[in-house]
Amino acid sequence: MFELVVATNNAHKVKEYQEMFLGYDIKFHSMKDLGIVCNPDEDGDTYEKNSFIKADALAKLTKLPVIADDSGLNVVALNNFPGIYSSRFADSFGGNKVANLELIKKLEPYKDKSAFFACVITLINVEDKPIQFKGICKGKILDKPVGEGGFGYDPIFYSDEAKMAFGTAPAEIKNKYSHRAKAVEQLIKYLKEKGLI
Ligand code: IMP
Repeated sequence: MFELVVATNNAHKVKEYQEMFLGYDIKFHSMKDLGIVCNPDEDGDTYEKNSFIKADALAKLTKLPVIADDSGLNVVALNNFPGIYSSRFADSFGGNKVANLELIKKLEPYKDKSAFFACVITLINVEDKPIQFKGICKGKILDKPVGEGGFGYDPIFYSDEAKMAFGTAPAEIKNKYSHRAKAVEQLIKYLKEKGLI
């Protein structure tokens, strides 16, 4: 069995990974499961850099292979804001409940509501060179939050491909069309080619 540690403190993310790898001989450990504390400064200016910073910091604390992802919501009319600042923007309002309403308000003057989620996964498989996989999920910002599903910005995001809001989408739909799912598809292909899963 291929074992990996996921560089996140977000239990929801680990669950999404587990669900997306259903049927493969792989086990994801959260940092919490292994008692690892790792909170490096995500001071890169791209998803690629921040994803690498997280994977690299965690790889120094465990002998297991690691993956880290950096993701965010990019609103086109706002020059891709909040982008790499997605989690900091939400924290500045005490969480996504208020931040999502603030984002809708910021976008009110614009006709173009298009947005996309992006996700870059970095895999560091012990002594192999780090490798990255990127996924994009296109859609629109809704004019009010809907549903109870998912997390973060899901309630205000309508996915063009899924043809539904992520806040109301069942997990299997989000896990098919999301930015993370698209990056994971490439990760699965790579791990299969390497004979690791
Ligand atoms: P990070 O990738 O953990 O640094 O956080 C990115 C932030 O982007 C999260 O805290 C969420 O607010 C947001 N985000 C990333 N992926 C998703 C998603 O699938 N749904 C909703 N929000 C997301």
